[in-house]
Amino acid sequence: MSGLMMDRPLSVPSILDYAAEIHGEQEIVSARVEGDRHRQSFAATRERALRLAAALRAMGIESGDRVATLAWNGYRHLELYYAIAGIGAVCHTINPRLFPEQISWIATHAEDRVLFFDADLAPLVADLAPQLPKGIRLVCLGDTAPTALPGALAYEALIAGHAPASGWTELPERAASGLCYTSGTTGNPKGALYSHRSTVLHAMAAVLAVPSSFGTDQRVLPAVPLFHVNAWGLPFSALLSGTDLVMPGPRLDGASLFQLMDQEAVTAAWGVPTVWSGLIDEMRAQGRKPRALHSLLIGGSAVSEAQIRALESEFGIAVLHGWGMTELSPLGSVTRPRRDLPLEDRIASKLSQGQRLFGVEMRIIGDDGQPRAQDGQAVGELAVRGNNVIAGYFNDAEASARALDETGWFRTGDVSRIDGSGAMTIVDRTKDLIKSGGEWISSIDLENAATGCPGVAQAAAIGISHEKWGERPLLVIVREAGASVTGAAIAAHLGASLAKWQIPQHIVFRDSLPMTATGKVSKLDLRRIISAEGLP
Ligand code: ADP
Repeated sequence: MSGLMMDRPLSVPSILDYAAEIHGEQEIVSARVEGDRHRQSFAATRERALRLAAALRAMGIESGDRVATLAWNGYRHLELYYAIAGIGAVCHTINPRLFPEQISWIATHAEDRVLFFDADLAPLVADLAPQLPKGIRLVCLGDTAPTALPGALAYEALIAGHAPASGWTELPERAASGLCYTSGTTGNPKGALYSHRSTVLHAMAAVLAVPSSFGTDQRVLPAVPLFHVNAWGLPFSALLSGTDLVMPGPRLDGASLFQLMDQEAVTAAWGVPTVWSGLIDEMRAQGRKPRALHSLLIGGSAVSEAQIRALESEFGIAVLHGWGMTELSPLGSVTRPRRDLPLEDRIASKLSQGQRLFGVEMRIIGDDGQPRAQDGQAVGELAVRGNNVIAGYFNDAEASARALDETGWFRTGDVSRIDGSGAMTIVDRTKDLIKSGGEWISSIDLENAATGCPGVAQAAAIGISHEKWGERPLLVIVREAGASVTGAAIAAHLGASLAKWQIPQHIVFRDSLPMTATGKVSKLDLRRIISAEGLP
């Protein structure tokens, strides 16, 4: 028997309608590429997005068409999110930090019809132009279009030339609304194609899971870019909950973030660990935290104990550790702070990647393909299922066929354990696995332990093949400026928290680590470098 309730489609633009009506005076503050700071209410954002919707329709953009963005975090990018999805088209965010060949590959694969770009990225777009899909329209997010790109339009003139559309396009809730390619450290990038339904459900689940970031008295800063899995959904969750958004533009260094957060009384911010290292340095230099900042959601890579300790005990900033993937829209889990935990227990609990969001089911799968116990001990590959998890990849039959396992779960490639309270801890990734003599060695544990050693700035562990043990870990270290810490000192430090057989025989030093476009250590490149250079 069916229930007797109405069935209204979940839709992305309904979030903006709600935000403009109920929280119309809430603000989006943007540090602009132009160098100044811009303020705009939620109500004004809706009005501009409706003008943009009319302009897109006039350009001939139809339901299902892909419209690309190459832009930093700012109000115009947010308007694009809503206007593109609002006319039934698909907002395809592209990472400007990718190699140019990858950008043109992605734009061609997605068959993008329009590309909106920030003015400072005009030289990149000019270089890319010959490789972009034929007939693509270019629009510069500013008052004028760059002369180097003949035929490009200026965003402000485009929307000024159109009256606000009278409404959004009515769509089924399973219609596509957003497209995001995975960073593609191996093989070609693959597109996760989000729907209106998945996006709205994800936004609601995020507000429930991270309540401290949201509310009409909160101001949240996405340090995670809008081109990186929709800034973890913040453009949707913030508007839905009436939370002011403070957009940092392209500058994510510690000093710029500190100043913006301090002046704008930012209360919470979301981003990857690397960004927060810069902020910690700046806070130490200033001797204080940005005045209103109470919490940071950190994810994308494992947060080190040293980082949690610095934020919590030196500055009184609560750390929330989250895990996610492009394929999950992206949030899958986040730590939930419990009241009155002593500092050491609190820190320990935050080394876990947290508990699943409502709507995401998790289990761990052993080598035999069977689910393993969630007892905090058994280790296996993390598999997920839910309304904000992909069912396939965009226009990629081969990858889609392999996207889910035979039981319909998505295999994450992360090796984890889950305890009785549902707290999930990543111990490695299948691609990074170090299995020595049949036993796991966690590269994350090695890295965390190594970064706790005085003089060590960064550490990355990879597996190298070994005749006897199958694999042994190799640790690559970047020293802090001026430090002269030795391999022997690091090994001794590791000995305090790791078993003897887990300690790498090889510890090598480099000036820097190769990074992916999304700011993670590229283990793939690191392996290549190490095998080309040979072991010491
Ligand atoms: P994102 O970087 O936004 O999380 P990606 O799809 O680029 O999305 O990368 C997802 C992968 O990043 C995960 O499968 C996992 O290996 C890693 N990852 C994400 N969050 C964490 C975390 N908190 N701790 C450890 N690894 C993480």
